[in-house]
Amino acid sequence: MATASICGIMMTSCGSKNDDATRVAGDFDYHADRFADIEVLRYQVPEFETLSLDQKKLVYYLTEAALAGRDILWDQNGKYNLATRRLLENVYTNYDGDRDDSEFKAFETYLKQVWFANGLHHHYSMDKFTPGFSREFLEARVNALPQEQLDGTDLDVIYEYIFNPDFLAKRVNQAEGQDLILTSAVNMYEGVTQKEVEDYYNAMKDPADETPISYGLNSRVVKGADGKLTEEVYKVGGLYSSAIERIVDNLQKALPYAENETQRKSIEELIAYYQSGDLKTFDEYSITWAQDTLSRVDFINGFIESYGDPLGMTGSWESIVNFKNTEASARTEALSADAQWFEDNSPINPIFRKPHVKGVSAKVINAAILAGDAYPATPIGINLPNANWIRAQHGSKSVTIENITAAYDAASHGNGFNEEFVIDEPTRKLLDDYLFITDNLHTDLHECLGHGSGRLLPGVDPDALKAHGSTLEETRADLFALYYLADPRLIELGLLDNPEAYKAEYYKYMLNGLMTQLFRIEPGKDIEEAHMRNRALIARWALENGKADNVVELVDIDGKTYVKINDYEKLRDLFGQLLAEIQRIKSEGDYEAGRDLVETYAVKVDPELHKQVLDRYSKLDIAPYKGFVNPSYTLVTDKDGNITDVTISYGEGYVDQMLRYSKDYSTL
Ligand code: ZN
Repeated sequence: MATASICGIMMTSCGSKNDDATRVAGDFDYHADRFADIEVLRYQVPEFETLSLDQKKLVYYLTEAALAGRDILWDQNGKYNLATRRLLENVYTNYDGDRDDSEFKAFETYLKQVWFANGLHHHYSMDKFTPGFSREFLEARVNALPQEQLDGTDLDVIYEYIFNPDFLAKRVNQAEGQDLILTSAVNMYEGVTQKEVEDYYNAMKDPADETPISYGLNSRVVKGADGKLTEEVYKVGGLYSSAIERIVDNLQKALPYAENETQRKSIEELIAYYQSGDLKTFDEYSITWAQDTLSRVDFINGFIESYGDPLGMTGSWESIVNFKNTEASARTEALSADAQWFEDNSPINPIFRKPHVKGVSAKVINAAILAGDAYPATPIGINLPNANWIRAQHGSKSVTIENITAAYDAASHGNGFNEEFVIDEPTRKLLDDYLFITDNLHTDLHECLGHGSGRLLPGVDPDALKAHGSTLEETRADLFALYYLADPRLIELGLLDNPEAYKAEYYKYMLNGLMTQLFRIEPGKDIEEAHMRNRALIARWALENGKADNVVELVDIDGKTYVKINDYEKLRDLFGQLLAEIQRIKSEGDYEAGRDLVETYAVKVDPELHKQVLDRYSKLDIAPYKGFVNPSYTLVTDKDGNITDVTISYGEGYVDQMLRYSKDYSTL
């Protein structure tokens, strides 16, 4: 990874949550659609009505700036994605045959999958989707389309893209020992090898530069006819100009409603960055953005996370508009105010601790719109900026997206997960009582304190852990959170009311890491995604290293495997030991030790246990992946055209939303 890898912690599919009636407002319909391995939910936006008119206008224009960038991500994810989406949508909307026809149904499912993934590759596994309909079916429908809808469309390459499983098979390949660029389908490189790109950036990097830009964050690297590498920069007048111009236009409309000077400056700097493509300006913007802690409305909009790049450099475009949830923010403010205590008491070698933890700002937010790489699948926490030196010198902002976690919680109630996978009734009761709060606190600790803790020794390259950097960074943040979840300090701070509460999250974490997350993996495949690797690493390491004391075991009851935790205090101790080792690896840049941990614990899957988990899960009909449709915002104007209000509505379906976005926000 290029950075201290910020995560979007993706919500795990294990739906084991409590039924907290206060979180389920009335008859809100959380379920929007269900297909393949996906469930699409709706989320509510509590407290929107409490915003002032200016804040609502700010939210409105920022949501427009968010939706304007949608096509950028589609194109970054694969160079034929947009053309393919348009063709599929034209076939779908022009279809006048039997909608119960099995080929049409398979086609519809495929299109829903493609929409969800912002392209033809699964958003999590990165594998290309397998169409359940025939090429003949599609060709017949395409041939029946009005000619003007096909002008300029290269049908041959689109058919190849859809139907040839070997053509651009994987969006992001992370397999050790292969050329990660040549074997990845992402559209961030063209005609270049991994070695050429690494040489290109290494020649640019100055090891003595203490404030390096995020090299490659906003560009596509191509090889010219002369054999030289150049960057096509994402900016006004550069690559993706038409989409970025529309983003900028809406940012300019938002500007008059900025809540204060710092926020105004940050929006101006973001506009300037989009206009110039200059990554120094992006750093200035990021610093100002990190300093804007007083505004109620906030947003990210840009090329942010680099998980979509096999080399972890180029940012995938995303936007989330949000505002502070005043009630729930009291929780993270308490942690944030205590950041130095947590750092000073962390169970790591003191030389790796930060003597002064700076600017850990934390709040709980409600998302108002999710876009780009945060839509429909979305993180439940955000911690930015990503640049290590900015985080160290200027601090960072960390948020938990409470209305999203609340929607997951409400939608998962009663899905049968706990009855199938949790070992006994007392443990189920523990999860019912404490999992929602401890899961939220785990996210808070991971985001507010975990990613920001610790330091590199002088001279250590932040990219030293290479392809394993993001897995190990997530491991570190999760361990920090797990370790402190059991700390009496949380009771003293009034964040938990029972010293046993942490056991709920420990049980769920071990169950997920050892067993249930395997539900997301196809038979025969390895674990690849960074967060899943991190969870497997922690859980399997703790199982293995606690064997002598029988801390955790996998037991067989009537032919089914269950996780049994015999000693929660010793488990905490193991989490602390592993945290110390991971921090050492990170601080010293010990690539070999990091790689060995990942390869020993985080990658391979026990095929028998995997099969059992899949069998047991399949009886529950729980979708392994979830995402969201957005609410819609409408300007209300008086007879003179003055904006008098912004209203929010929730009723839109998944297909309708996707088709509307393709119609109204087609920019490339
Ligand atoms: Zn994270």
